[in-house]
Amino acid sequence: MFLSDVCSHDIESPGCIHLNEHRIQLEVLAGDPRLNPAWDATLRKADGMIFLVRFLDFISLDKTKAIYNHFPKDKVVPLLVLICRTEGECETKISCIHCGQKLWIRDADVGKKGKCSNCKDSFTLRSQETIIRDQLKISDSIPINRIIQGNQELCRNALSSFIGESAALIKSSSEKINPEVLKQTTARVEIQAEDFGNPQNL
Ligand SMILES: [Zn+2]
Repeated sequence: MFLSDVCSHDIESPGCIHLNEHRIQLEVLAGDPRLNPAWDATLRKADGMIFLVRFLDFISLDKTKAIYNHFPKDKVVPLLVLICRTEGECETKISCIHCGQKLWIRDADVGKKGKCSNCKDSFTLRSQETIIRDQLKISDSIPINRIIQGNQELCRNALSSFIGESAALIKSSSEKINPEVLKQTTARVEIQAEDFGNPQNL
C-alpha cells in the first residue's frame, strides 16, 4: 500500500523511486519475521528502515514488538516510524489495559480518562505516538510521523524528509567506517607524541 503511494509512474523497476536526487530501492517486508528467514538478509543490507504501524490493540502490538525487536541491534541505520491511517480516520484501536477488551479511541479524547465498556475500569487515554514509544522503547530521536493511505503527497513527503535527513548520515558513516576495520581485534588508543615532546608538559 505504502509502496504504491510513494512510487510514481516514472519507476524503472518495482520499489525503485527517485527522490531528492537519490535513487531509492524500497523493499517491503510483511508478516512475521520469526517465521520468515528472508527478513534477516534484507534487514542486514538496508541503509534505512521505515516501520509502518497501524492499530495498537494487544495482538497488533505483540506483532509490532516482534517485528521491531527483530531489527538487528548491532546495525545502526536511520529509522522512521509511520503511523498509517485511512482518509478521514480520527481514531485508533487499542486494548483495555485491565481486561484486554479491544477499544476504539478518538484522537480528540487523548489525555482524557476513559472507561472500558467491558470491565468498567478507567484509564488515561494515550496517543498512538506515546504508546509506540513506550511499548517499543523507541528513543525520542527517532521520528514518528503519520501518513494517510492513498495520499501520495503525504507519503512521498514523509519519505522525502526521511531520506533527506538520512542521506547525510548514511553517506558520512559509510565513507568513514571501513567494514574490514570493524572485524579486527580491539587496539589500544594511541596518545599523540607531541604532549610528551613538549618540554612544558614534562
Ligand atoms: Zn476493560
